[in-house]
Amino acid sequence: MTLTDANGNASDTERRRLGADLDVEICIVGAGLAGLTIALETARAGYNVVVLEARTIGWGASGHQLGTVMPGYDLPIDDLLGRVGLAATSELWKLSQAGGDYIRRIAADPALPALAVTDGTLEVSTVDVGDRLIARMQLLNDDFGIDAEGWQLERVRDVLRTRRYFHAVHYPRGFQLDGRAYLMRLAALARQAGVRIFEDTPVIGLDASGIRKRIVTPSAKLRAAQVVLAGNVHLGTAVPRLAATLLPVWRHAAITAPLGEKLHQVIGFKGSVVDSDGIDHFRVVDGDRLMWVSPETTWDAPAKRFAGPIRRRIRSIFPALGTVAIEATWGGAVGQTVHQMPQIGQLRKGLWIASGFSRQGLNTSAMAGQLVARGIDINDDQWRLFSPFELVWAGGPTGRVAGQVIGLWTRGRAAAAGAFARYREGAKVREVKRAEKREAANREIARRVRLSKQSERRDDQSV
Ligand SMILES: Cc1cc2nc3c(=O)[nH]c(=O)nc-3n(C[C@H](O)[C@H](O)[C@H](O)COP(=O)(O)OP(=O)(O)OC[C@H]3O[C@@H](n4cnc5c(N)ncnc54)[C@H](O)[C@@H]3O)c2cc1C
Repeated sequence: MTLTDANGNASDTERRRLGADLDVEICIVGAGLAGLTIALETARAGYNVVVLEARTIGWGASGHQLGTVMPGYDLPIDDLLGRVGLAATSELWKLSQAGGDYIRRIAADPALPALAVTDGTLEVSTVDVGDRLIARMQLLNDDFGIDAEGWQLERVRDVLRTRRYFHAVHYPRGFQLDGRAYLMRLAALARQAGVRIFEDTPVIGLDASGIRKRIVTPSAKLRAAQVVLAGNVHLGTAVPRLAATLLPVWRHAAITAPLGEKLHQVIGFKGSVVDSDGIDHFRVVDGDRLMWVSPETTWDAPAKRFAGPIRRRIRSIFPALGTVAIEATWGGAVGQTVHQMPQIGQLRKGLWIASGFSRQGLNTSAMAGQLVARGIDINDDQWRLFSPFELVWAGGPTGRVAGQVIGLWTRGRAAAAGAFARYREGAKVREVKRAEKREAANREIARRVRLSKQSERRDDQSV
């Protein structure tokens, strides 16, 4: 029996590194959201499962995410439609929503105290797309069966006091929870189901050619019938060619000091807000603090260096908040694929991959966990829906520089498009004012003409 507390923290003995050779049915590389979900689901299906983690559980992005769960993928829905058509897009979106449902079930698992979940997330547009909103809502609701609500500009600005945002898509079934608590719960449930998780155990070699795969760590060797690579961008030397298919992107986050009542006057929406450019992502936490993710870099840097940029970003979006005090910063690396869709599936018999979840890793890793577990257990091949998104080389070190440049350019372009939309909105207001002035002037001229005619008539009558 493994000793863990309600948060999934293991006793010292369980936290040990792998010290002896093992022969198992399933070996999973990486104890992030993806690896732990697959471990839990395969152990529940009755397999003998081991997870090897180079550092500690949740050391990667999984231990640093914000806990926002929305349907969909990093790849915008319109682009997905263009790539795979309506039927496949619909299936992929339904799967992504089922990933969110899975997280709800885990959060409410009766084996542990329930995790608090709050409903509703908002995807805001930084450009004026009111006309396209109705078509998008029709697609989401009617064709894909996704619960989504279009919010017009006035409603958005009622709850978010900024000129930066125009329209929004509200997902009533989107939700948020304590992201780290969810991760530790996965670990706790996996251990309860019999999974052995070895930390401080990097996989440094893999021979996946035989029926039984060979896995090498610095302290011991393993043999397994099935290997799942869930190491995200950190896989490194274990499988270098695979690691090169992901562009590492560091996302930087911060939490403010308590901001008091003014925060509620400026941000009235209770759930998470993400912008359609994938630049800002925030929500109110602990009553009156703001948790915010914004800048991205293709290199690692100390998190505290981003306190200033995040402070300035908050001020530029919500000037009424003024200069906020930042209390803590953190960050993590997400893996971005060239096609912006996750890498899910069987690479060769008994060798699986679940990676590349990018900015939207909660619902997609939950979905991947179930797809891979069912693939292993009952040969279910629904994971093939991801086959159109092959492993594409992400460009190596040059790709990182290009990624940063493209990121800056995209942000610059998004900022310019947003500025242009705001300019147009301002111009519209100025035009309305000018028209009102013209009307008033015309009315005044008409009044004077009327008066002068009346006075002429009076003069004629008096003659
Ligand atoms: C600041 C921030 C906020 C985010 N907020 C959200 C959010 O609100 N909602 C959302 O949906 N997504 C969010 N994300 C994205 C999400 O966190 C990621 O997509 C997700 O965590 C990726 O999970 P993963 O299991 O694939 O990878 P990781 O969490 O990176 O886990 C991979 C693990 O594998 C281990 N590993 C790698 N190679 C080896 C090896 N050779 N041997 C042994 N172990 C190895 C690593 O040490 C690591 O622990 C956020 C990301 C960041 C950085």
